[in-house]
This record gives sequence, C-alpha cells and structure tokens, in this order.
Amino acid sequence: MKKFINNPQNVVEEMIDGLGQIYPNLARLAGYKVLLRSDINFPSSPNVALISGGGSGHEPAHAGFIGRGMLTAAVAGEVFTSPSADSVLAAIRAVAGPKGVLLIVKNYTGDCLNFGFAAETARAEGIRVQTVTVADDVALATTHTRPRRRGIAGTVLVHKIAGAAADLGMSLDEVSTLAQSVADDIASMGVSLSAGIVPAVGKPGYELREDELELGLGIHGEPGVKRMRMRTADELADELIENMLQAKPLHKGDRVAALINNLGATTGMELAIFARRVLAILRGQGVSVERVFTGTFVSSLEAAGLSVSLLPLDDSRLRFIDAATSAPAWPNATPSTPEPRTISIASSDQPQPIRPIPNTRFVRCIRAACAAVRAARDRLTELDAATGDGDLGISLERGADAIEASLAQFPCEHTGRTLKQIGTTLQRAMGGSSGPLYGVFFVRGGSALESGMTWGSAMLAACRAVCELGGANEGDRTMLDALIPAAHALIEGVDFATAAELGAERTANMLPRVGRSTYLGDRVKGHPDPGAVAAATWLRAVALELDFLEPQRA
Ligand code: ADP
Ligand code: MG
Repeated sequence: MKKFINNPQNVVEEMIDGLGQIYPNLARLAGYKVLLRSDINFPSSPNVALISGGGSGHEPAHAGFIGRGMLTAAVAGEVFTSPSADSVLAAIRAVAGPKGVLLIVKNYTGDCLNFGFAAETARAEGIRVQTVTVADDVALATTHTRPRRRGIAGTVLVHKIAGAAADLGMSLDEVSTLAQSVADDIASMGVSLSAGIVPAVGKPGYELREDELELGLGIHGEPGVKRMRMRTADELADELIENMLQAKPLHKGDRVAALINNLGATTGMELAIFARRVLAILRGQGVSVERVFTGTFVSSLEAAGLSVSLLPLDDSRLRFIDAATSAPAWPNATPSTPEPRTISIASSDQPQPIRPIPNTRFVRCIRAACAAVRAARDRLTELDAATGDGDLGISLERGADAIEASLAQFPCEHTGRTLKQIGTTLQRAMGGSSGPLYGVFFVRGGSALESGMTWGSAMLAACRAVCELGGANEGDRTMLDALIPAAHALIEGVDFATAAELGAERTANMLPRVGRSTYLGDRVKGHPDPGAVAAATWLRAVALELDFLEPQRA
C-alpha cells in the first residue's frame, strides 16, 4: 500500500484538521470529530438543523456538503466505521435550535444504532430530533427487504433537497416528510473494478482479477451482489440501468435527476463515457433527464468504481435541487478565504480522578482480554473483510487501547461500576456496530452485578441488552452466538470459553440476518462470524487468567 498519509491510526484526525482549513465555511466542534457551519451563531440556528455523517473514507461526504442550503453539521467515524453515539449527540447538542434537528442516516447497522441512540438521548434532554434513513441501494432489491438495503450516494440528493427546504424555514415535520419521500424514491447502484484500501489495514477489502468486475458493491469495500467478466462501458451501463429499472421502474414521460458518482479512482473521462450511455438509455425510454451531476460525491477511498443514482422529479424537488448552496462539494460551490475556526460546547463529562491500579484477578482478566483482542487483530480483520467490511480488528484494538488507557481512572475495586465504565469507554472509542453493542453489554452486565446477580446471570442479562439494542438473537450469526452459550456455561459452572469457541465455530454454517454481512447472503457460508470469534477470543483469555478449567481443545 502506498498512500499520502502519516500514522495510519491518525488519518481521520489529520483529515478533519485539514478539512477545517481548506473549507473556510467549516468550524470544528472541539474534542469531537464533528464539523459544523461556521457562519451560524449556535445554538440559535434559525432553521431546522441537518446532521449527517458516518464512517470516513467517503470524502467529500459528508463534510463537503456542509453549508447554507445543505448540512448544518457532519459527524465523522473512523475509516468505514460508524461514529460513536457520543459524537452524534455532541453534534446534536451543538446545533439544535428551537426548530429542531433532522438526522440523515445511511442504512447500516452501526450508523442506525449510534444515530438512533443519540437521537433518543437528545429527545430525553428535550431536543426535537427526527431521523430519516436512506436505503437507496437497489442492488440488494431482490435479496433484501428495504430495512436491510444500504444507503449509498443517493443520500447527497436527500441532503440537497432537505437542506434547501430547511433553508426556506420549513418546519421539522415538513423537512422530515420531504426528506423521507425523496429517500424512498431514489434508486442507486454501483459497480467497481477494484476495492479501496483502509489505511490501517493496508490491503483492499476484496481482490478482482484483471478481467473481473464487481456489480452492486457497497461503499465500504464490501463485495457486491455478483462478480462478472469485464465488459465495455456501454454494456456495463446497460446492465446497471436494466437492474435498476427492474427494482424501481421508470415510465415514458417521467422526469428524473441523475447523479453519476465516482467511488474514488475513476477518471473523469470514464465518468463522462459512462454518463453519456446512461443518458442515452434513459432518453431512449422516453424518460426526461432534467439534471445530471457527475463527480465525486460519496467515494469509497480509492475504489475504481462508480455508482448511478436516479431520483424522480417534480417541480418542487427540482426547485430544491437548483437552489444555491454554499456547500463546497456541491457543484455550485462558492469560493471564500481559508481560515481555521473552532467552536466549543460545554462538556458535561467530569474529569475522573487517577488512582493506583490494583493487581487483582479482575484487573488481570481485563488486561488479558485486551491483550488477546489486540493479538487477534489481523485475524479478525481478515475474517471481517471476508464477511463484512474489515474494520472489526481495528475497532476492537482501539477499544482495548482505550480500556487500558483508562484503567487508572476506573474504580477497579468495584467490579460492577468498572464494567459499566468499560461499556461507556468502548461505546466512545469503537464506533461501528460492535461499539454500541459492547457498550450496552458491559453497562447492563455491570448494573446486574451491582444489583447482586451472579456473574453468569449478569452475563446473560448483558446478552439480553445486546439483543434488545441490535434486534438479533442466538442463531443470527453474531457475537451473541458466542456470548449466550458462554453465559449459560458460566451459570452452570462449566467451561465458558469452550462454550464460546464452539458457538463461534457454529456460526460458519449460519446465514446472517443482521449487520453488514447480510449484503453477502450465503457468500459468507464457511467463514465464522468475526464478532463471535472475537468474543470467544477474549473469553478464552479471561478463562486462562482465572485458570477456570484447562482448555479442552488446542
Ligand atoms: P460493522 O458491521 O458496523 O462494521 P463491526 O465490524 O464493529 O460492525 O462488528 C461486526 C460484528 O458485530 C459482527 O461480526 C457481529 O458479530 C456483530 N453484530 C452486528 N450486528 C449485530 C447485532 N444487531 N446484534 C449483535 N451483534 C451484531
Ligand atoms: Mg465491520
């Protein structure tokens, strides 16, 4: 891998630092990977505030779409990893005015969980928040009902239309209804010749031969719905549009906006060649393409791919699309002079006292679990790349690092309280799907211990919290398939680590029902679920530390 970067772990931090300076209309929310409009005196924003975001690696999304008439703020996660609920909440608190906040979320488990959790917390604080979920990827139309379809490049059209509506002073209900109707009508689909390379991973999420291409891929380096032999641009455009129209038919006389999006490494020449064919096909069917946008809107690092999005238009949608915006990545961007700016909000977090770390069995178990997760990083990355998006090893390593760095602030003599703080720490540090899931796992487990439950019952209660938040259960090919058997073994006083390992092995024959691997359907068969393997890994380390039972298997 060759990239213009420094330490791969710092790419997002350094990128945000840079964006804040090259886009002069942006200010950074101090302490968070959040960028906001610098021309509004928060929190007195006069209109409905729009927040979007997600993993990084999709530049210019989302920060490039901040500006008058588009987004108010963007929340950035690590590369291809959802931001934590904590950052989303900080963004909401920073920009919420009397008219409220609309969250525009792409339909990925991690994004839905973290934005959803933040929305709920903000509402409990009295902030008006609504959420619109974009699931425009019709590549999954035949295999997935809408709730499992991904959100991809069509999302920027939702930003554009909702942003223009908010700018006109429309109410939260009106903007939200409009945005959801646009989100529901967009159809998008992608194709790629190569995957992007996550800096901290160093190799592409999937490899294609010289004569292969991937149809219907997502924006996180995850493979698509099918691999095909290489063909000409025109043949490919025909195939793509045919698939899209099967999922969302257009009729003679329909008016549409088309967005032809570069996933990273596609040349302007190729985009224009492809666009010309897309326009020809649609016109040939009597569809009136009233606006066409080509360029890089939502990328996937350096993937040599593109996606097409089609949105049916009426006069009102067209007016919102044509409205001027100061967002720098929208084609009508207005130039201004660069100057870094920062805006701070008061933090409600109290600094924790530093204490000596006791060398108890409990602390040794925590350290052993962290070390095991770190040692398994590359294996988990590979497993997650085969079945998901490849970020799990790095996310868990970040979680382990954060726990070790905070050990001196945890009240280690109180197991329950410490577990709760571990949950908060993981939720904050990890992002992705695992972040909030492990967050509730340890918060609920810690509370259960505090209320006097045994370790086994507390762990089962913790598993139930994961089921409630993520909507999965045993048998759905998740971390729960390792955690739940381990909890039962712990209750029965038998070897919980082996129970977790056997559970993780069984996931190799399970079909995914939740999470990013659902996009691959039965292509994941034969590979165990990375989240389940990760859980078995740290549970084994804890068992060895406790000398619970001799490992029965090598
Ligand atoms: P993302 O898919 O957002 O990249 P991570 O890489 O952080 O998520 O975590 C992936 C793992 O999370 C999966 O292997 C699976 O074990 C677990 N997972 C995903 N969704 C759920 C869910 N709804 N409930 C329980 N576990 C889940
Ligand atoms: Mg992942």
